[in-house]
Amino acid sequence: MKSYRKELWFDIKTRRAFINITPQVNECLQASGVTEGLALVNAMHITASVFINDDESGLHHDYEVWLEKLAPHEPVRQYRHNGYEDNADAHLKRQVMGREVVVAITGGQLDFGPWEQIFYGEFDGGRRKRVLVKIIGE
Ligand code: ZN
Repeated sequence: MKSYRKELWFDIKTRRAFINITPQVNECLQASGVTEGLALVNAMHITASVFINDDESGLHHDYEVWLEKLAPHEPVRQYRHNGYEDNADAHLKRQVMGREVVVAITGGQLDFGPWEQIFYGEFDGGRRKRVLVKIIGE
């Protein structure tokens, strides 16, 4: 069995953003040499997400509005977590959007359904953060 590991680094200047990381995951897949197996992609931080959905700007705006309704950033004092930090909302948003995705690898390709793309969701930007890509298979 082949095994491949890589960390993708991000330095998002804004507090929140959605980044399509499918090209980077595809590069990892090509480098791994795996043609049949599984790719795990997970955020290595508890205020960021990795998820799969459509690369459509209207939807990304809708996520932003929906998440801000569920867990508004302001006022920061509404959250008990914000004793020394101001990122309680980011922890909650990350929980909703998820930690990781697993994608099947078939015939050397990410075996997506229609329109599926992999995204990094940043909810507390302004510092360097990582995503782990782990690929196993034949
Ligand atoms: Zn925190």
